[in-house]
Amino acid sequence: MQSDHRIQRIAVIGGGTAGWIAASALARKVGRTCSIHLVESPDIPTIGVGEATIPGIIDFLKFLGVDQSDFIEHVQGTIKLGIRFNDWHHIGHRYWHPFGPFGVFIDRAPFYHVWHKARAQGLDVDLSHFNLEIAMAEQNKFIYPDNKLGIAQTLRYALHFDAGLVAKYLRAYSEHLGVVRLERNVSGVTQRADGMIDEVVFKEGDRLQADLFIDCTGFRGLLIEGTLKTGYVDWTPLIPNNRAVAIQVEGQLPRRPFTTATARPAGWQWRIPLQHRIGTGYVYSSEHATDEEAVQDLLGQLGDAKPITDPRFIKYVTGRRRLFWHKNVVALGLASGFIEPLESTSIHLVCSGMYALLDHFPDKQFDPANIEHYNRTVIDEYEKVRDFIILHYCTTERDDTEYWRRCRQIELPEDLRERIDLYKRTGRIFQRRHEVFVELSWFFVMHGMGLAPQSYDPLVDGSNWEEVKKVMAAMRRNIASQVDAAPTHDSFFPDKPRQS
Ligand code: FAD
Repeated sequence: MQSDHRIQRIAVIGGGTAGWIAASALARKVGRTCSIHLVESPDIPTIGVGEATIPGIIDFLKFLGVDQSDFIEHVQGTIKLGIRFNDWHHIGHRYWHPFGPFGVFIDRAPFYHVWHKARAQGLDVDLSHFNLEIAMAEQNKFIYPDNKLGIAQTLRYALHFDAGLVAKYLRAYSEHLGVVRLERNVSGVTQRADGMIDEVVFKEGDRLQADLFIDCTGFRGLLIEGTLKTGYVDWTPLIPNNRAVAIQVEGQLPRRPFTTATARPAGWQWRIPLQHRIGTGYVYSSEHATDEEAVQDLLGQLGDAKPITDPRFIKYVTGRRRLFWHKNVVALGLASGFIEPLESTSIHLVCSGMYALLDHFPDKQFDPANIEHYNRTVIDEYEKVRDFIILHYCTTERDDTEYWRRCRQIELPEDLRERIDLYKRTGRIFQRRHEVFVELSWFFVMHGMGLAPQSYDPLVDGSNWEEVKKVMAAMRRNIASQVDAAPTHDSFFPDKPRQS
C-alpha cells in the first residue's frame, strides 16, 4: 500500500454517546497515525436516554484500557444482570432474560434440553436454580467475578449508566489521547467530483477537511442521509412503536441490579436504576396512544418515586439506513438507524459498528468491495437484533388492547419464523453468524414467552439419568451457596440515591 493513500484525517460529527464511543475507539486504535476531530453542536442536544447496556460494554471498556471501577464511579453506574419482563405474555406473568450460562453442558447437550426433559418428568426446576444471574438479581445481590471468595466466576453482567456522564468520561479519555473537540454547527458540506465529502462547513464561518467522516449526528443523519441520501429501510410494519416519553425519577433503595421492561396497553415501559436516580420511560405506538395518554400512563406507574425532570418526548422510525457506509461516510448510532431499546442494543451496535470499521479500515481509495463487505456484515447484525426484538412481541398471548392484538398479527421475517418453528418442534436453537444474542438469550425469551417445544434432543436419553439428576442437584446447591455468600448490590455504592 502506498503510504500517501493512508487515511490521515478523521472527522467524527456528533458528540452524543455514539460520537464519543467512535472518537475514543479511533483514538485508541489509530490515534498515532491519524488526526481525529470531533464536532459537536452547542445548540443541538444529545438524545441522552441510552442508559442500559449488554455485556459487550465490559469488553469495550477493556478494549479502551479503561478501569471499570473508575468508569462506574464517574458515570453513576450500576450493575445489570439481565432484564425482567413483566406482563408480556399475559398480565401478571413475568420472566427473565439474564446474561450468563444456564446450567452446564451434559454429554455435549446444551443444558436446556436436559432441563426440558426434567420438566417433562415433573421435577422442580425453576430457572433461577440453574442461572446465577437470575438467582442473584432476585435477591439484589452481586459480586465481581474476580472476587477473593472465588465464587461467581462465570457471572456475566452489563451496566446501567448516566448517558451524559458517559459522554463526559469518554470525552476526557479521547482528548487525553489527542482528539480535538470543536463546538460548531455543521451547516453544509463540500463534495469532490466523485461525491466524496471533502469538508464540513460550519455556521460559525470556518470549515474542517477530512479523509473519513463518521456521521454520529443522531436521527437526522446529517451526512449519510442529508448529503448522501442513502435511503432508509422502515421496519414499522414489524415493530409498531414509534414514540417514547422519558422521565427521570428520584433514586430508591434497593437499587435493582437489572432493567425492568413492563408491557403496557400501547407498548412497554423501562425502569433503569442508577446510583443517583432512576431512568424511566414509555415506548409506544402513536397509532395506539396519544402523547398525553402515554405520559399519564407512565406517571401512573411510578408508584411513590418522585419525578425530577419534565417528560421528554422522542419520535423515531424503527429501521436502518439502506447503507451504513457510503463513499467516505460511515454512520454510527442513531444516524445509522434505530431498533427500539427493549434489549438495550443500540450502544452495543455503536461499539460493534466501530469494531467492524476497524476490521475494514480503509485507505483513501475506499475500495468498494471493502465497503460492501462492511455493509453486509452490519446489515446482518441489525437484522438479527430486529428479529430477536420481534420475538418478544409476536409470541404474546395478550389480547386486551388493539396494540397487542396487532402484535400477534406481525408478519414474521422468514428466518425468525423458521427459528420459532424449529424450537417448537425440536427444542433446538442455533446462533446465526454476526449475531449479538447467543442461543441462551433466544432460549430465555422463547421459554419466557411461553413457547413449549414438543420434544428435546433425543441424545439426552443416552445419558445416565440418575447421574444427570445428581449433577442438577449439585448445580442447584452451588448456585444457592454462591448467592448466600455474595454481598448486596447496594453495598458497592457509598452514597444514598438523590432525594429531593
Ligand atoms: P445523539 O445523542 O442524538 O447525538 C447527536 C449529536 O450530533 C449531538 O452531539 C448533536 O449536537 C450533534 N449534531 C447534530 N446535528 C449537528 C450539526 N448540524 N452540527 C454539529 N453537531 C450536530 N441505547 C442503549 O444501548 N440502551 C438503552 O437503554 C437505550 N435506550 C433508548 C431509549 C430511547 C427512547 C431512545 C430513543 C434511544 C435509546 N437508546 C438506547 C439509544 C441510545 O440513546 C443511542 O444509541 C445513543 O445515545 C447514541 O446516540 P447518538 O450519539 O447516535 O445521537
